Amino acid sequence: MVARKFLIHHQDSNFDVDYDTEDGFEVFKFQLFSLTAVPPDEQKILGGDDDRVISDDSDLIAVSDKLRLVSIKDENPQLGSEIVKSDEELARVLQAEEEALMFQQFGVSQDSRQFEQRIRPYVDQVLLYEDTRRQEAARKTVPVEKLEEKALVALAKEGNFKPSKSELDHAFLLQLLFWFKQTFKWVNSPPCENCGNETINQGMGAPNSSETAYGASRVELYRCRSCSRITRFPRYNDPIKLLETKKGRCGEWANCFSLYCRSFGYETRLILDFTDHVWTECYSMVLGRWMHLDPCEGIYDTPLLYEKGWNKKLNYTIAISRDGVYDVTKRYTRKWHEVLSRRNLITESALPYVLKNITRECRKNMKISISTLDERDQNEAKELEKNLHSQENDTISLPGRLSGDKEWRILRSELGSTSLSSSSCPIRKITDDHVSKIYDAFSPFISRLVELSSKHKAIEGVHFVRGVLIDLKKSPFKRRRVVIDSNEFFIRELLPSFEMMLDALSLKSNVEENGRKVEICLRDDPVRTSIALPVVFHAIDDVVFNIKKCDEFIKSSVSWPLVKVNRICCGSVLASGEELPFGIATSAFDGTRVSKWEEPNGAKGCWLIYKAKDAEVYELCSYELMSANDAPERDPRDWVIEGSDDGGASWRILDEQTAQMFDNRFQRKAYKVKLQGFFANVFRLRFLAVRDGRTNSRFQIGSIDLFASGNVKCLVQNPYCDFREADPTDYEPLAMKPQVEPEQMKGGMQVQPSEQTKADMQAQPSEQTKADMADVQAQPSEADVQAQPSELKARMDVMKKIVMVVLVLVIGMAVGVGWT
Ligand SMILES: [Zn+2]
Repeated sequence: MVARKFLIHHQDSNFDVDYDTEDGFEVFKFQLFSLTAVPPDEQKILGGDDDRVISDDSDLIAVSDKLRLVSIKDENPQLGSEIVKSDEELARVLQAEEEALMFQQFGVSQDSRQFEQRIRPYVDQVLLYEDTRRQEAARKTVPVEKLEEKALVALAKEGNFKPSKSELDHAFLLQLLFWFKQTFKWVNSPPCENCGNETINQGMGAPNSSETAYGASRVELYRCRSCSRITRFPRYNDPIKLLETKKGRCGEWANCFSLYCRSFGYETRLILDFTDHVWTECYSMVLGRWMHLDPCEGIYDTPLLYEKGWNKKLNYTIAISRDGVYDVTKRYTRKWHEVLSRRNLITESALPYVLKNITRECRKNMKISISTLDERDQNEAKELEKNLHSQENDTISLPGRLSGDKEWRILRSELGSTSLSSSSCPIRKITDDHVSKIYDAFSPFISRLVELSSKHKAIEGVHFVRGVLIDLKKSPFKRRRVVIDSNEFFIRELLPSFEMMLDALSLKSNVEENGRKVEICLRDDPVRTSIALPVVFHAIDDVVFNIKKCDEFIKSSVSWPLVKVNRICCGSVLASGEELPFGIATSAFDGTRVSKWEEPNGAKGCWLIYKAKDAEVYELCSYELMSANDAPERDPRDWVIEGSDDGGASWRILDEQTAQMFDNRFQRKAYKVKLQGFFANVFRLRFLAVRDGRTNSRFQIGSIDLFASGNVKCLVQNPYCDFREADPTDYEPLAMKPQVEPEQMKGGMQVQPSEQTKADMQAQPSEQTKADMADVQAQPSEADVQAQPSELKARMDVMKKIVMVVLVLVIGMAVGVGWT
């Protein structure tokens, strides 16, 4: 394995790249990416005298000094994020659509009544969502403050601590979706009302008056296999009843969820797919368009889910709202000519008239400005036409249906693939300065514990602190506050050493009642506390575990890995692939246990690049990896960690590990880096193999923590080398797919793979339960923790100083183009 030099020309600049052809073409493309900021999937590499396109089977060495990189986007600047099909392909598609349209005219009913009959009932149905009594009843069942907190935390994790109203509305809507998905139950055959056993369908029964009162004109009957009692399953149409029953099939799900959306003021549509599914669309002010939301699946903004993921043969997809009915089929297909051939209820020329007539009726008594609605309609029509002929994003794979039982889904051929995942990830900025601050804050606290007490007493002290924090966590997030008696051991002896932790948690302490009480309350932004609290609980568990492991709890034990300082934070990551939306790469850096980075195709090798914030350089001295919540077969086994001091043009191996084994879930393994003394601004983690790659295609990891030595090198322009202060304004606005708080993992698991995974996930105690548990579920790791003797205090001091200014680095970094 020898790296060769390659010379790449890109936009009037030349770049030297050290690359070993055995590493694979993807690695090469990434190196180019880190130098030129042209993402791998937008790169076109040309080489040789004839400027031919280079691919992974080209002889790269033969043209090593004649390579040219162009961005596909630069070539076609008119292209947006969606890449338009080639002219020839487009012509073929248009031709097929024209033919389908022609055939449709002959085979289609000239009588539009059948079509109209399908949608009429729903036009009345959606008006129920406007009823204030129903809306109020709906709002009462929602833990609004909890969802608002989760929405704010999800935004904060993207670096957005001051979201606009539209951004918060958008994020809240997603939390409402995840909450609903967890609250509502899917029914195939209901369990016996008498004994809870399995039942079998006995056909339909006549509804009684209490059932018809809530619109259940159909009642399914089920006989118990064990006690023979009949259980009724009335199919309620009135969503107010569904708020109480909280169960049903997709009809009930979408009906009830749409009421929730309206209750919180979102412009909402019930989406009727004539092939038998129902879901919801809401207008997102952030996106400036309608967004697909499937409550049964907990999936949003993924309209091709049905055609591509479930292999559905769509025909009519009609949106019904208080202000009209709309044909939105084009949002849900990229095979319009095929869809056209199946549309035989009404001619394409008659369809718009029927819809327009109903819409006119709907709008007759509306107070909303009709011109606003018209403008919105026109924009939507344009958007649908534009997207219809855009290329599918093949890097995203869509899951099959997950609601309903497996046999039923197989029967419907809707099983499809197993997950929503992306093989081409965006660069994600990490908001994790709170994690590093919390880790740092343990050092004065643990030092004080060592001074004061025995190991046993120390653990007691940590438990006391945890109790206080649990009380804080339980109190409403905007008014978190606890009051403690000043005579408590913690207050008398430990509080001063805990001030740094309070600061890290964005909390403060006040002395009250002439010194008899101490109040701990919010310091400023409640969201900073909300994002930090889960981290501190998991860190406390680790601290207790590590204290227990110390032979003697003395001054020398106050070192790594018990005390972890200089955790590198606020960088950006790019991964070879990720699971959406819950297994994204940044999840490995959020300091909590239940989130993870999951690579759907990572079992045979995957990578993650970590680029330091603002081109800061670090001497990586140690790192910790934590196994994820489930599926041990996906744990990393062999890996290489490399560093680059030139933005990714060349790499040095810093550490290599083989045959590693995580014996438990959430187990942390700490490693001291073999090659010390190398300063890098980019790190590459290449995971070469997982624990069992024969039966499993996935890789996953619970967390990755990188620790720098106290030796600091800085740029001249950045003399204060501000390690810990992340500037929130530095980040991009709300992404389309907001990251979600780990507590929603369970809800999100339904977007996730195997039945086994789901079962595992459900077996997880909730975060709160875990925090409440009196004792720590220690995650053992014995031999692997290679304690590193380090002088904590010296490190802390060094952290605040500038040690060196190295001009060479300035030049080095000027070459490496930063990610923005
Ligand atoms: Zn029974």
